[in-house]
Amino acid sequence: MFVSENLSVNAQGHLMIGKNDAVELAKQFGTPLYVMDEALIRKNCRIYKNAMDRYYGGQGLILYANKAFCTLYTCRIAKEEGLGLDVVSGGELYTAIKAGFPMEKVCFHGNNKTREELELAVENRVGHIIVDNIYELELLESIAAKAGIVQDIMFRIKPGIDAHTHSYIQTGQIDSKFGVALENGEAFEIIEKAVKMQNVRVTGVHCHIGSQIFDLEPFCQAAEVMMQFIGDLKDKLGLEIRELNLGGGYGIMYTRKDDPIEYDRYIEHVSEVVKAAAEKRGVKLPFIYMEPGRSIVASAGITLYTVGGIKDIKGVRKYISVDGGMCDNPRYIMYESEYEAVVANDAAAERTELATIAGKCCESGDILIKDTMMPSVYVGDIIAVEATGAYNYSMSSNYNRIPRPAVVAVNDGEARVVVKRETYEDLIRNDI
Ligand SMILES: *Cc1c(COP(=O)(O)O)cnc(C)c1O
Repeated sequence: MFVSENLSVNAQGHLMIGKNDAVELAKQFGTPLYVMDEALIRKNCRIYKNAMDRYYGGQGLILYANKAFCTLYTCRIAKEEGLGLDVVSGGELYTAIKAGFPMEKVCFHGNNKTREELELAVENRVGHIIVDNIYELELLESIAAKAGIVQDIMFRIKPGIDAHTHSYIQTGQIDSKFGVALENGEAFEIIEKAVKMQNVRVTGVHCHIGSQIFDLEPFCQAAEVMMQFIGDLKDKLGLEIRELNLGGGYGIMYTRKDDPIEYDRYIEHVSEVVKAAAEKRGVKLPFIYMEPGRSIVASAGITLYTVGGIKDIKGVRKYISVDGGMCDNPRYIMYESEYEAVVANDAAAERTELATIAGKCCESGDILIKDTMMPSVYVGDIIAVEATGAYNYSMSSNYNRIPRPAVVAVNDGEARVVVKRETYEDLIRNDI
């Protein structure tokens, strides 16, 4: 009935998230409201971690890709669950530092890290910096030299794999702003250069082929290509690559049309590919990193809205407007992403009419869900959009000077605010 396993309906016909009544949450904390089910986030962390233990002898580390939902709260959960962290900016790194995250388990990514960001990472002894390009390599070498340290690095490699997903979230092909390519020799050249440097140590290679991918095949192909490259580096440079970071991108269920693979299958299959290739090429079995983001938090989240104006334009379309929109969930306007919604105060109601759920921002593209079957909806109803735990809060904005909603975490019937609702005062804080 729902796309996420943690949602159900109680005797009053209210939507339940875990053991909490969504209507009560809306009443207590106001709307719009992000609600995160902590039990499900932790369960997802453990699925990955256990799979790494079972299928790869624990010789790997799961990094939570923080950009999916980066707060002190999510950093602390990742830490408590024994995961590492993938950060992509100084701000995410700062959040991790403030959350007391063990820095040796942090990988710092990005295609254009600034000097200040690299300095922050080096000063705080980030475990690995994933170097994207030659300019960054040289900059990092000088920063590490000044700090008097040797920085462990990996390289972002484009393995030339075409993952079947939205072009905005495809990253493994040669025409991508991320990383260095294999097929034109770029990747080999940059590593050849790096091994001669004094203040960086090449420990690994990294790839990330895209996001919201449902097939095992592209991940297995990428692992194979990367292992061949590790073999080539050994043969041609005598370089032993000890670490292989295979990125994230595992697809989740946003609507009933999506058919995700169980998360541990990825590790199971990729492990086989890596083991076989290591044997064939005569290289040591690398320590593996995997970086799931979306699949850890997306299905744990819902967003609650209150219904305002309803426009039934006869013969055209029925619009149901809610008190949020692209400012708290820009994924429709960016990618035309699909979602499902439920009337939280009448969650078992039959879906009888086609409607479009619109936001309140001054953009016609500000839609949450276009043409979805809904029950009769009335002013004041609470609508829950499902599977909003990833790339919603983290991509939110103050467009139209709309304050960001609060984030409430529920766990075993308890509910607590983990990010406060922004106020109008917050909006003008930096205005002079
Ligand atoms: C975005 C990103 C991830 C996480 O992707 P998901 O689709 O959220 O799993 C992992 N690694 C890198 C380098 C990324 O850029």
